[in-house]
Amino acid sequence: MRVTDTHCHVDLYPDVPRTVDDIERSGIETIAVTNAPSVFRHCAALARRSRLIRPALGLHPELARERRHELGLMEDLMSETGFIGEVGLDFVTRDPEERDIQRRVFGRILELCALHGNKVLTVHSRRAAPEVVDMIGPDFPGSIVLHWYSGPESALRRAVAYGCYFSVNPAMLASASAQRIIAALPRERVLAETDGPFVRVAGNPATPRDVARVVAGLAALWDVEPAIASASLETTYRTMVDRVGQ
Ligand code: MN
Repeated sequence: MRVTDTHCHVDLYPDVPRTVDDIERSGIETIAVTNAPSVFRHCAALARRSRLIRPALGLHPELARERRHELGLMEDLMSETGFIGEVGLDFVTRDPEERDIQRRVFGRILELCALHGNKVLTVHSRRAAPEVVDMIGPDFPGSIVLHWYSGPESALRRAVAYGCYFSVNPAMLASASAQRIIAALPRERVLAETDGPFVRVAGNPATPRDVARVVAGLAALWDVEPAIASASLETTYRTMVDRVGQ
């Protein structure tokens, strides 16, 4: 069974047309996240070349300060896709002003998504997981995927209680601390992602085909056959998108 790549920066590969062709040949459905609203239309154009690419509208927290003026554009574009990302908070910065801008931008995006009520969000939470989970809250109307979750177990438990999903990539499966987090996740909330081209596999940028590595890694961790792991991942993905009618 083919497994969906729920977080890949298709527009950021050195050879984008080749990446799009490769997705088409591989048959792997891919959520193509973007980092700023101004590049969404470019991504949507790529998606017209492959029915497997789902273009996502995003505003990455590390670009929040520089691109906050694009929030209005984000609002205008929101009816064009069911997929939102990459969005969230990144508290690697210790600058209180920048953190505050990130909070305001992400807060506004959550508000807009809640108004629509039918979005799938792929959310970044590096060093900010408790705050991201607080902002999402227990009753968010939409599907939330915490991508590359690396926060404390207390926030993870809250996110599970709030109905969030978690996307796992090859870099996480290669890390002992991330493996402990993955082991704590309910299987029916786990999705696959590559976060290519940022995640690298054997020295090269990961591509959506590398979801096969996620399947193999999870199968080993869960002590099941790879076919069982891929069926679980894909059933979870379908359930998540169906919940919001995407
Ligand atoms: Mn990413």
